[in-house]
Amino acid sequence: MVELLFLSIFGFAVITFCIGFSIAQKGIKKDRIDLLCFLLAISSGWWSLFFGLVLKQTDPDMAAWMRTVGMIGVFALMICITYMMVYWSGIRGRMRRWVIGFAWLGVPLYPFTVQKSNITFEMTNYGMSYQMSSGIWSFAYTLYYVVVALNMLFLAIHLLRRSIRRREKIMAHNLISCIFIVVLGSILDTVMPMVGISAFPGSTIGQFVGVIALYQTYLFYKKSQMNLENMSQFVYYSVDEPVFLFDEAESLCIVNNGAAVFLEMSAEECCKLRLNEIFELNRDVFRFQGGKNRVEARCIQNQNICSVSIDKIYDDYKDIIGYIVIVHDITERVHMMEKLDLEKQRADKANEAKGVFLANMSHEIRTPINAVMGMNEMIIRECEDNAILEYAQNIRDASKTLLALINDILDFSKIESGMMEVVEEAYSLKAMLKALEKECSMRAEAKGLALKFVVPEDTPNVLLGDEVRVRQILLNILTNAIKYTIKGSVTMTLSYEKKENKKIQLIFAVADTGIGIKEENIDRLFDKFDRVNEEQIHSIEGSGLGLSIVDRLLKLMHGTVEIESKFGEGSTFTVSLTQQIIEDQPIGILREDKKVHEERTRYVPQFIAPEVKVLVVDDNRVNLTVVKGLLRKTRMQITCVLSGKECLEAVRQEEYHIILLDYMMPEMDGAETLENLKTMSDNRSKDAAVIVLTANAMAGMKEMYLEQGFDAYISKPIDGTALEQLLMGYIPKEYLGSPA
Ligand code: ADP
Repeated sequence: MVELLFLSIFGFAVITFCIGFSIAQKGIKKDRIDLLCFLLAISSGWWSLFFGLVLKQTDPDMAAWMRTVGMIGVFALMICITYMMVYWSGIRGRMRRWVIGFAWLGVPLYPFTVQKSNITFEMTNYGMSYQMSSGIWSFAYTLYYVVVALNMLFLAIHLLRRSIRRREKIMAHNLISCIFIVVLGSILDTVMPMVGISAFPGSTIGQFVGVIALYQTYLFYKKSQMNLENMSQFVYYSVDEPVFLFDEAESLCIVNNGAAVFLEMSAEECCKLRLNEIFELNRDVFRFQGGKNRVEARCIQNQNICSVSIDKIYDDYKDIIGYIVIVHDITERVHMMEKLDLEKQRADKANEAKGVFLANMSHEIRTPINAVMGMNEMIIRECEDNAILEYAQNIRDASKTLLALINDILDFSKIESGMMEVVEEAYSLKAMLKALEKECSMRAEAKGLALKFVVPEDTPNVLLGDEVRVRQILLNILTNAIKYTIKGSVTMTLSYEKKENKKIQLIFAVADTGIGIKEENIDRLFDKFDRVNEEQIHSIEGSGLGLSIVDRLLKLMHGTVEIESKFGEGSTFTVSLTQQIIEDQPIGILREDKKVHEERTRYVPQFIAPEVKVLVVDDNRVNLTVVKGLLRKTRMQITCVLSGKECLEAVRQEEYHIILLDYMMPEMDGAETLENLKTMSDNRSKDAAVIVLTANAMAGMKEMYLEQGFDAYISKPIDGTALEQLLMGYIPKEYLGSPA
């Protein structure tokens, strides 16, 4: 009997210790309820172990010791159960403090409940038993036990009343049952000894049963909690994406609802299929390196296009136990992409057409402007009548404005279509600034404005950058400053900062005393075709494109532009951009002389070369007249022909020094003519410089012509001075003479 009872109680201890350790293994730090359940199981095991050992003792002293140690488990269990019930019942405030505080009274009570003088041990036929002698401590212990039990009952009833969900109600019922079991068991060794009957270890048995029931409640509680294990099933079945689970033998064993809906079959029917019966896939699709394989495949069942991702599933020993196949239906996306691709092709075509259109328009507009400007230039050079000269000069100004506008539109469209490229070459900053000053000072002087360029003499001169674009940016800002200033001055101040790797940051500040810009309008300045201060500027020509080109060009060059302005007082536009220093040689004094009026004074050619023979090829007679007229005073021998074919004929007859060749011509264009000039054996002008004349001034064209083998490039409308300058470079020195 003793053995049986002892073994059972010892078994209880083993079971509860095992429960405690299994909870600890899963981790008790994350959740307070896990820790409580762990402590509860250990306390219960402790209680069972030492009260079981009491039974086995024959010596009352030893039995008293065992009981003393075992009582630690009793009080610990009481405290743990109280905490657990408080946690589950969700009780708060004073009631919670009272319940917990009362449970902890067990600690001061403990020494009195184990005092040897209060307990007598006796041998019974179910082993060593004991009795607490009636008195204050026995009463206090019983009272403690009863109140703790009542507290727990109260908490369980509280949970029952408060609970709305079924699982909470079930939990509350379970807890009430636990308490009854524990209380019933404890009657045997608390109440019975009080009436003189030796204690039977009923509470040890009762607490074990109660703890097992509590553990069940704990498991029940955990199951309804959100965690990866219990939620993964819900997730698996609730995702709309088709998910297939294949076993090691690559047979389909589980499918989710998404898969059944996708294949329009029942789950059982799905499971009869193999992966390559579902998708157009290779047989060895499961043979791959690494943990994941993603393939695109068409579904055989419904013809949808899918992205199929296959993940290997490993066991704890890193052996493959199956595959998880997740399918994304990308049919719509693929169709959309195809559509977008088509749209893009269409847009590209339209863009290309726009480019061609612009190039043609540029050509078409420039050709007549060339005629107007060329003929007008001849009037300016040759006319003696001052009134007519003034008209002609007005025509020149208007033509220049028209040309600038066309150039702006072309540049802008090129930037918008992403075709504008920054072409970096070595250039002289000094030469660029001098040219700028010359160009702007005429305009400034015409308006009676003072124009000042303040440039530090030690600024490095030879830089690497896109000179054309830097010049365009500065010219735009300077022209605006002059345009929008009625009286006062325009000052361009350059400052610089040397950076690492021979880089230099140039800061150009253009300040004017003009009409200024209202603060609220400053942000709008860079919008295309937007002009501000309409009232003040309605009589000033402009398209609203200049600053948006400046802004976009600077972005291409990683530069910035900042504006400070006071309405009615003036503005400062500060451009900052970084260039590379090629030579540190300083720029020196920018302007040695003040010869800026050259163009206004009577025209004198830059050279005369009566022995030089020039062949001009253009299908447009007016253009031929213009070139001939512009070069007349240089006294060169000029021959004009109307086609590429005639050009080839002419070079067979004569040895020319320079050939000016139009690019866009019917039948044989400039490129083809050049090709023939280079390959024909009877070309007497093999050494002639071939300069292309073109009305196609789209940015980037210059590079194309040079690549094709032309020696130089000049765009229409032809600037007489620029043409002379260019030709001078190709005329042998011995033929050059100065005009009388
Ligand atoms: P626009 O061809 O009209 O000059 P921009 O893009 O160059 O076009 O300039 C946009 C607007 O910014 C102008 O219409 C003008 O109202 C204003 N603006 C530009 N520069 C100045 C300046 N220096 N002073 C006052 N207003 C200016």
